[in-house]
Amino acid sequence: MKSIRTIPPILVLLSIPLGSNVTNAQGTGAGDDPLAIVQITDNVFRYGDESNVFVVTSEGIIVIDGTCKGGGQEWLKEELGRRYDVPVKYVILSHDHESHICGTQVYSDTAVTIAHEKALPHILREGRNSAIPQVIFEDTMEIRLGGQRVVLYYFGPTHSDNLIQVHIPNEGVLVAPDVVRSGNKAIGLPDYRDSTVDGLIDALYALSKLDNVDIVVPGHGPLADQSSFGYYRTYLVALRDRVLDALVAGRSIEYIIDTVTMDDFSDYENFEQWLRPNVISMWDNMYRLREPNGDRKNAYDIAYPIGFPIGTAH
Ligand SMILES: [Zn+2]
Repeated sequence: MKSIRTIPPILVLLSIPLGSNVTNAQGTGAGDDPLAIVQITDNVFRYGDESNVFVVTSEGIIVIDGTCKGGGQEWLKEELGRRYDVPVKYVILSHDHESHICGTQVYSDTAVTIAHEKALPHILREGRNSAIPQVIFEDTMEIRLGGQRVVLYYFGPTHSDNLIQVHIPNEGVLVAPDVVRSGNKAIGLPDYRDSTVDGLIDALYALSKLDNVDIVVPGHGPLADQSSFGYYRTYLVALRDRVLDALVAGRSIEYIIDTVTMDDFSDYENFEQWLRPNVISMWDNMYRLREPNGDRKNAYDIAYPIGFPIGTAH
């Protein structure tokens, strides 16, 4: 592909605002500074420590997700204008959750915004601080710009009903927000609100098998690789099965919190912090999906009627 004009490093250093920095640290995360731009590969850059990525081509820039942290998208837009002589042509929204798409409307003068079709009604209903998708798709979409390919995958309802994964195969980069987190051996999500657990388990397997993936950009935390999908999937299957087995045995939420301790996964990142909300929200997810035997007048149904507040029943 054609080479991309970038401002020489000395000019970049002169042009950036106070409190930010530009580094070239292949294979590492962006650190704590939400304004740090890190070059991941020849043409893919990340800033901050979330799913905020941009792809530079000879014909335009593709921005993936947004954030209102630090200088936010106004800052990034100015920075892109200083560094490159091509406009932002596409903005890709990974899913409707506002923290991942905040401020992306600043590119609407030059860019087309793309999201999964199910993201659009959520963005409108919730009044997200975001660009409104102009192009939506159902299963997969491919963008070709300046010799670069960006492939969008939808694996069905997983974390939200509209999460997509963004693959830049020529660069070996997969942007995979909110399905893995913080390196390779980690619990991927704090809880299962707005989640379809079985769909998430299936998607983690598919993502672990995707070709041309050297670097995984998670939704939060340092860069990972494809092993992260397998590690999280193994944990998630075990958590689901243990909680479900206890539910089928008629155990209470309090008993499940006490006994589903997942000790064999205690070396996973975020284990201490997220085990309790993981167990509680998995219980909630499984509770809603099953119908116990009997006439619905057993002790379990009496103790745990639909809609009871977690933590107050006994
Ligand atoms: Zn999310």
